[in-house]
Amino acid sequence: MNSSYLSLGSNMGNREQNLKEAVSALMKEPDIQIENISSIYETDPVGYTEQDCFLNIALQVKTSLRPEELLSKCQQIEIELGRKREIRWGPRTIDLDILLYNHENIETESLVIPHPRMHERAFVLVPLLELNPALLIPGFSEPLPVILDAIPDKEGVRLWKRKNGEDAFALFES
Ligand code: ATP
Ligand code: MG
Ligand code: MG
Repeated sequence: MNSSYLSLGSNMGNREQNLKEAVSALMKEPDIQIENISSIYETDPVGYTEQDCFLNIALQVKTSLRPEELLSKCQQIEIELGRKREIRWGPRTIDLDILLYNHENIETESLVIPHPRMHERAFVLVPLLELNPALLIPGFSEPLPVILDAIPDKEGVRLWKRKNGEDAFALFES
């Protein structure tokens, strides 16, 4: 089994419902087990700022899938949930990115792990840190809290719905 962390984001339509549906779709995959889900954070858009705020979460999963297979599953779920690719970094119903896969460095045409922009994104690191503050990003010697501390736009990330104790699925059960 492999350990992987995913980042999910939505800023179109019913954002919470979109996250919920993506989590359910991942739960239905026989080769993916969700181990933990962060609180939901509301985050100001970065990069392309003329768009609505996002809801973001991080997930910890165990999977027997290879990284490329996991990416295909993520992309399939994006399509099922109606993701259209228009503006780069623009509004989207759902984005599923692979942050980490074990402690591996992967670089192919279609997949780069660790996710190449994760270390500069508070909207990724804040939920991730909640899941595992001791996590290390391959290629970085500093722990997550130190990397996060160096990011200027941390105020743009606000707790939106707090996770209920130890129950990973509490926020996502209807
Ligand atoms: P960003 O990658 O900056 O977060 P984005 O998520 O909006 O931007 P997408 O349109 O979702 O970008 O994906 C563009 C391409 O990124 C995908 O087709 C995929 O092949 C590639 N990609 C490379 N590395 C990863 C990764 N670790 N997770 C998800 N997609 C990746
Ligand atoms: Mg992304
Ligand atoms: Mg993406």
